[in-house]
Amino acid sequence: MKKPILFIFLACLVILYACQSDFDGDQRESRTNNSAITTPNKKSETDNQTSLKSNHSQENTKRTVYLTFDDGPTAATSEILAALHQFHATATFFMLEPSMKESPEVVEQIVEEGHAVGLHGVTHDIYHFYQSEQAALEEMTTAQKTLQQITGVQSNLIRTPYGSVPYLTESFRKVLDSNGFKVWDWNVDSSDWSLSDEEYVDSVIGQIEKLDKAGVTPIILMHDKQNTADHLSILLTYLSEHGFQARKIEEDIQPYNFNCYQRCHRLSTQK
Ligand SMILES: [Zn+2]
Repeated sequence: MKKPILFIFLACLVILYACQSDFDGDQRESRTNNSAITTPNKKSETDNQTSLKSNHSQENTKRTVYLTFDDGPTAATSEILAALHQFHATATFFMLEPSMKESPEVVEQIVEEGHAVGLHGVTHDIYHFYQSEQAALEEMTTAQKTLQQITGVQSNLIRTPYGSVPYLTESFRKVLDSNGFKVWDWNVDSSDWSLSDEEYVDSVIGQIEKLDKAGVTPIILMHDKQNTADHLSILLTYLSEHGFQARKIEEDIQPYNFNCYQRCHRLSTQK
């Protein structure tokens, strides 16, 4: 009788030992699994902090470019916004009043994503806009009110249809100026309305390089349209790889506009 008892006792000991070591094993595995989750997290937190710091200091030393998009919002705006977001770029949208009314949600999205909003008038018709100082002022005031109703933003940034030269004579400028509006032209014309596919990007890069050598901040005229949206990331890649930061136009920056010299004249009212 003693041998079976001894055998059972030994058998119990073996089972107990086996259970104990299995339990330890589980604990070790779960500790390892936990550390496998936490270690990379800790590392990525550190990495993020480092990259945030370096991004921040890099952003301060980057040269500014102003990307401006006229004639929107359109069906292409969302794609433009997505590309800008991907490259941490901000831009300025000079919008038409009827288009803002048509797509108020897009106008709101532009503001929510941190871009500047400006006005491009109502008719985009030179024969109406430049007909008189009062007509130009009314178009901009109407657009300003609509933008404010949609977004709550009161913008004084304006771009007149086709630019300020030649029809925005001194008397037009005085009227707009005395009503608080700031006229913005451009020093880089992308010609994105006439060039096909990504040709406009090559043209813009060439002009940016010339201005950069002269120490001049590029203000790039583009249009809120599909072909421009389709190839925008090529331009944004160039900018980020060459030390440029695309920034929005702030209200307190001295506006850049074409100088009339001897070129400005009143629009002939005959079509
Ligand atoms: Zn336009």
